Amino acid sequence: MDPRVLEAMLPYFNHQFGNAASRSHSLGWIAQEAVDQSRNQLAQLLGVVPKEIVFTSGATESNNLAIKGIAEAYHRKGKHIITVKTEHKAVLDPCIHLEKEGYEITYLDVEHNGLVNLNQLEDFIRPDTILVSIMWANNETGVIQPMAKIGEICAAHGVLLMSDATQAVGKIPVDPRQAGVHILACSAHKMYGPKGVGALWVSQTQPRVKVLSQIHGGGHERGMRSGTLNVPGIVGLGQAAYLAHQDMPIEAQRLSEMRDELEKKILHNIEETYPNGSQTARLPNVSNIAFKYMDGEALMMSFNQYMALSSGSACTSASLDPSHVLLAMGLSGDMAHASLRFSLGRFNKPEEIDTAFNHLKRGVENLRAESPIWEMFKDGVDLDAL
Ligand SMILES: *Cc1c(COP(=O)(O)O)cnc(C)c1O
Repeated sequence: MDPRVLEAMLPYFNHQFGNAASRSHSLGWIAQEAVDQSRNQLAQLLGVVPKEIVFTSGATESNNLAIKGIAEAYHRKGKHIITVKTEHKAVLDPCIHLEKEGYEITYLDVEHNGLVNLNQLEDFIRPDTILVSIMWANNETGVIQPMAKIGEICAAHGVLLMSDATQAVGKIPVDPRQAGVHILACSAHKMYGPKGVGALWVSQTQPRVKVLSQIHGGGHERGMRSGTLNVPGIVGLGQAAYLAHQDMPIEAQRLSEMRDELEKKILHNIEETYPNGSQTARLPNVSNIAFKYMDGEALMMSFNQYMALSSGSACTSASLDPSHVLLAMGLSGDMAHASLRFSLGRFNKPEEIDTAFNHLKRGVENLRAESPIWEMFKDGVDLDAL
């Protein structure tokens, strides 16, 4: 978390401990004002109207609220939803839940570069399609979907478009109205804010989207999400949004230069390494690389005391299954297992690129020195043909 975010939050843990829903005393009003300011700060980052924002406990809740809340609100129009195979589990799992409730879900394929196939999207839209849900940017590869083109297709067919923009908000310009997106989910901890707080933006004009609440009691957040507001968390989200808005152009440039440097070093100096996903439609801070003939998990273990890396998303890394994102992009199970995601952030310094690369190179060399598979590859055995 950015220390400036923590500083903004601290008063709301102690001497400003008012409940934003208390209307009868100044402590409540102060908390309410703080929440209003955060709503404005996030709205500015997204270019939307503040009152269209609903605060939640994070993007998982936002995605659940949006998908289930729209499914419930529009079931008379239809029970068909379109999403993509490379979505985050916070979108896929609510969809799987809805399948058990009688909804039909179409999971779109992606191209080898991770981009959604737009023709396929258009072909699958039907009269009973109530929602298309496509993430703005992928959490494992950083690949950015062509949201404006997707928005055009959805508009042409009169279908609501939602986007899990958790990875994109605060990293790249995200303007849902301009892109034709009607519902958007994001999370504070992906932009240097605290964990456990996020938001859902729901268009209230042109179109007025109906989302039925999934948590009832008290009617907070215009009835869309009941429960006492997490005032310090919301203040943190607002401050994080404000800082991201301010620093975005410089920060994106700095991060992409460091990311490109790290990537270039790896691809040029370590044999049999391949980048995964589009190299152009990509977040500035993410790189996903396959180390062929290696076990990504083992490689990671070789330097995990120096770097915090993962071979999948933190949300699914408890399982040893290969990444569903990389498999959907057409990688083999072996190549998916051989892949690592690198992501850089606001507090990384340029000199850390060398350090990271050196640890990585040593790890690869040590593991390959003991690997029978690598020896076979070096002996000219065509392993892909086996
Ligand atoms: C992190 C993440 C989520 C989940 O967000 P939480 O706030 O941790 O619930 C959802 N979608 C994407 C793309 C993410 O990166």
